Amino acid sequence: MSEAGLDALLTLQEHDAALDRLQHRRDTLPERDAVARNEATAADVAMRFRSVAARRDELSNEERRLGDEASSLREKASEVEAKMYSGSVSSPRELQAMQADVDQLRRHEQAIESRELELIEALEPVDRQIAELDAERAALATALHDARSVLEQAEAAIDDEMAGERKARDDIAGDLESSLVTEYERRRARAQGVGAARLVGNTCQGCHLTIPSTEVERIRRAPEGTLAFCDNCGCILVP
Ligand SMILES: [Zn+2]
Repeated sequence: MSEAGLDALLTLQEHDAALDRLQHRRDTLPERDAVARNEATAADVAMRFRSVAARRDELSNEERRLGDEASSLREKASEVEAKMYSGSVSSPRELQAMQADVDQLRRHEQAIESRELELIEALEPVDRQIAELDAERAALATALHDARSVLEQAEAAIDDEMAGERKARDDIAGDLESSLVTEYERRRARAQGVGAARLVGNTCQGCHLTIPSTEVERIRRAPEGTLAFCDNCGCILVP
């Protein structure tokens, strides 16, 4: 392997490291946290909305049921009254019993109606809560939409940078021997992103650990084209 080839490998390594950093920055964008926070709040509000809406449905169903019951009692009382005043019943005792029925039906109806009123009152704060949560939901939807578009912009900026780095690294890799690139890639995958590093003095710049002097001597004296590897991190060493 020529010296130029090995130097190119280091440049390839620089671009790959830059790509890793960009990918990491993309994954950990604070804008991503902002979206997640907005999503969590929106989910929380949606849950509260569902629970309050269920309460409202429960109350209004009960209110409707009581309303129906009151009107059916009203109808029954009217029917009895109509019969009383129709002249078809002449027995005073029977008329008295009918009047007692009517009174009882009316009292029952009033009791039902006052419960209905209580429910209508209980519905007021629930309806207010629904309106508030609805407004909150709308505001959060807007905030979430905005946060997502800010995130998309930040991602797009990084994607542009990454495309540039990727093109540069592909150009370099294309000029290198494919077997060398394969070796580099294999070692890079194993050694936490470092496939090739400069040997400076006795130190591998990939792992920053010291290599025994005798080994360093051997590497420096090896004929051109001999690949050397760091025993610590496994990267290709470039003398
Ligand atoms: Zn190393």
